[in-house]
Amino acid sequence: MSANPNDPTLRSWVTTPKDSDFPIQNLPFGVAARKSDQAPFAASIIGNLIVDLHALSTLDAFKDIALPHNIFAHSDLNAFISLGRSITTQVRGRLSEILVDGTPFDTIREKRDQWLVPNTEVVHLLPVTIGDYTDFYSSLEHATNVGSMFRDPSNPLLPNWKHIPVGYHGRSSSIRVSGHSFPRPHGQLKPQDGPPEYGPSRMVDFELEMGFIIGKGTELGETIPADQAEEHIFGLALFNDWSARDIQKWEYVPLGPFLGKNFASTLSPWIITMDALEPFRTNGPVQDVPVLPYLETTGPKTYDIALEVLIQPAGGQPSRVCQSNFKYLYWNMCQQLAHHTVNGCDMRVGDLLASGTISGPTPDSYGSMLELCWGGTKTVTLEDGSTRKSIQDGDTVIMRGACEKNGVRIGFGDCAATVLPAKP
Ligand code: CA
Repeated sequence: MSANPNDPTLRSWVTTPKDSDFPIQNLPFGVAARKSDQAPFAASIIGNLIVDLHALSTLDAFKDIALPHNIFAHSDLNAFISLGRSITTQVRGRLSEILVDGTPFDTIREKRDQWLVPNTEVVHLLPVTIGDYTDFYSSLEHATNVGSMFRDPSNPLLPNWKHIPVGYHGRSSSIRVSGHSFPRPHGQLKPQDGPPEYGPSRMVDFELEMGFIIGKGTELGETIPADQAEEHIFGLALFNDWSARDIQKWEYVPLGPFLGKNFASTLSPWIITMDALEPFRTNGPVQDVPVLPYLETTGPKTYDIALEVLIQPAGGQPSRVCQSNFKYLYWNMCQQLAHHTVNGCDMRVGDLLASGTISGPTPDSYGSMLELCWGGTKTVTLEDGSTRKSIQDGDTVIMRGACEKNGVRIGFGDCAATVLPAKP
């Protein structure tokens, strides 16, 4: 049948801008709706054009693939993902065959106006219904920076850190797709010398994270061996785990993050498949403390994904404030998933597991304002000359990520959201 959809020499008959996140080798999955009728459909994207998978299915594009009726007309991808990796891989492969230069699917290509929609004519929806969201704390640099600022610079890591992929249960109800805005949160704040007070957070921050979506669930009591964990992952998306540092600082003892974290989180619209990421597989950092056998993995288990964060003031231009990489994470996704299920906790398709802030070794690679401004002792200067120690009203924070190799760029699309003034 077809060529390898990841073949760097593949070209599409759809013109894609040279620096596009979405060449024919990407073909991620998401959910969109035309602004004209608001009916949701499962989607992919090539260049600046949205692929309406439901419209394609009505043209018999997938008739030889075992797909339930109207599988692409849902408001989320959960049912599609539940069909399993072999089916979702076949659908991506078919998309590649339809979109490639010299496609044998002539009649489908001729009807392109029915299933290719300009990106400007759609709205994006959350790609999956997220049952549960878990956040890890898997960057050694981030944990070291935070430990140095808040505890002991000479001994920043807690004793469990190199033995356990530390995590906590977050909240899924407040996760939104890129492009949204939310009001600055209120909460309890504790001034240095004074009683706690109530008011808007003065320290709204971003956390540069990568999320992965569960593609194959488990039963209660079942565990996922680390070396089989990839079979349970559908794909990756950028994630901003918005944080209110002043609320967090006062509330987190002894049970951890709560209202300082759950007022909003932002997910990028496209799930980049494990298939598309395969060429960018690489080794993570050396784990210099032996891990328990259930956390052992063999071979390269992470991906070389360059990441950046930009801050765009209201009416202004975006300024890059951070450059990091997914491969810096100390704990990989397989270890996170093995650990999460080692007690028998069940996973469901669509669950979101996020990496924790992805900081790198150099100060310009820190993935939060907390670290970039080192606990408020420094400032970040934007291109318009204004400075920040935290995110101001009207600021839009934009996260981007992309893998590049052999002239192919697999991008994630923007993960962007705007902080509005606090409600009165
Ligand atoms: Ca986080």
